[in-house]
Amino acid sequence: MGINILWDPQAPAGIELPVARMIAMILRKEPALVEYPFLIDGYDRNRDQHDAQKILDRLQDTFTRRYEIDGPLLLVTSRDLYVNGYDFVFGLARPACGVAVVSTARLENDYYDRMPDDTDLIDRAAKEGAHELGHLLGLDHCPDPECVMFRPRTLDELDRKRKMLCPVCREALASRATR
Ligand SMILES: [Zn+2]
Ligand SMILES: [Zn+2]
Repeated sequence: MGINILWDPQAPAGIELPVARMIAMILRKEPALVEYPFLIDGYDRNRDQHDAQKILDRLQDTFTRRYEIDGPLLLVTSRDLYVNGYDFVFGLARPACGVAVVSTARLENDYYDRMPDDTDLIDRAAKEGAHELGHLLGLDHCPDPECVMFRPRTLDELDRKRKMLCPVCREALASRATR
């Protein structure tokens, strides 16, 4: 079973391949970059953010009913995401349905008034993309602050994570793959 990445045309262009390669390195699974027309809804005018749950609703609906996609699907978007009860989320996964979304909005240095840097953006998008795909592959959150499955609440916590799974999560992923 493969894993799939759908890149929102509005998301930063030109970094799809490096991000996909890094995700492959982290999860030891080669993702396929897929292209389909897809409508992103869930926009909340008051918050100027998108409701990640609504994006996943449509993702689930569109891809389970209209397209044949084998394996978990991750959408990478530039829209800023929230879920009820939180100011924002870097991403969200719905493991029961095999769909997830990750946002680059708060992964770019510009957002924090820092110098733009594609390397930073690629690292962060790969870590958070691998994190959400990790959920779709059956992994839970991890207490190890350096593990990709650690749940970061800030950019600094995200940057502290390494581009790898800790031994415990690696083992959990391997045992699921052979089950
Ligand atoms: Zn998570
Ligand atoms: Zn871990």
